[in-house]
Amino acid sequence: LAFLQRKQFALASKTAKINKELENEIQQRFKLEATLKELAATDPLTGLLNRREYEMLFIHEMERARRTNTVLSIGIVDLDHFKKVNDTYGHGVGDEVLRRAATLCRENLRTMDIIGRLGGEEFVILLPETSIENASFIGKRLLEVLGATDIQAGAGIIKITATIGISQLLPDDQDFNAVIQRADTALYRGKTAGRNRVEVNLI
Ligand code: GH3
Ligand code: MG
Ligand code: MG
Repeated sequence: LAFLQRKQFALASKTAKINKELENEIQQRFKLEATLKELAATDPLTGLLNRREYEMLFIHEMERARRTNTVLSIGIVDLDHFKKVNDTYGHGVGDEVLRRAATLCRENLRTMDIIGRLGGEEFVILLPETSIENASFIGKRLLEVLGATDIQAGAGIIKITATIGISQLLPDDQDFNAVIQRADTALYRGKTAGRNRVEVNLI
């Protein structure tokens, strides 16, 4: 009997050890899955949401805005004369500046706002429950922060500004492109008007 009891005890210990190992493995797989999900959703350089992700979130926000009868504003943040940053300091420093600018956008918008990388040096911001007037105010505040920040990149400090074009979801809009095209028109106006400013466009 003593022999069987010892054997049973040994087996129980072994089972507990295996269970613990399995538990650890499951934990690690969960972590890996979360990391992979995040990687699939974000742009590798800036860590901002990639196109697939923000377009999906746009659809979600568009439906929510219509269901709850609230406004959804959308902006494009385009860094001013960014080509000059690359030409002057090199592409690597340009990348660093882009990363920093992306972080500044994230830090200075609300947690409910959605920020993605639209293209090279252009970010898209989706502002739920935000009128175009408030979006314009938020945009101006962001530009003040960007303009006032000393960006530490490469060997020195780099100053940047941006121009923001804003529009809002209108009743006939079917997709992301409809809204973004109006924001792009506003952006273009901001660029030709001298940059470092917010322009809005509702038609
Ligand atoms: P504007 O004020 O009219 O927007 O001028 P701009 O120079 O910012 O605009 P333009 O569209 O002429 O040039 C965009 C520049 O952004 C050119 C390109 O080399 C740079 N760029 C785009 N993507 C990246 C990137 O991932 N890394 C770096 N370092 N530069 C990038
Ligand atoms: Mg651009
Ligand atoms: Mg630019």
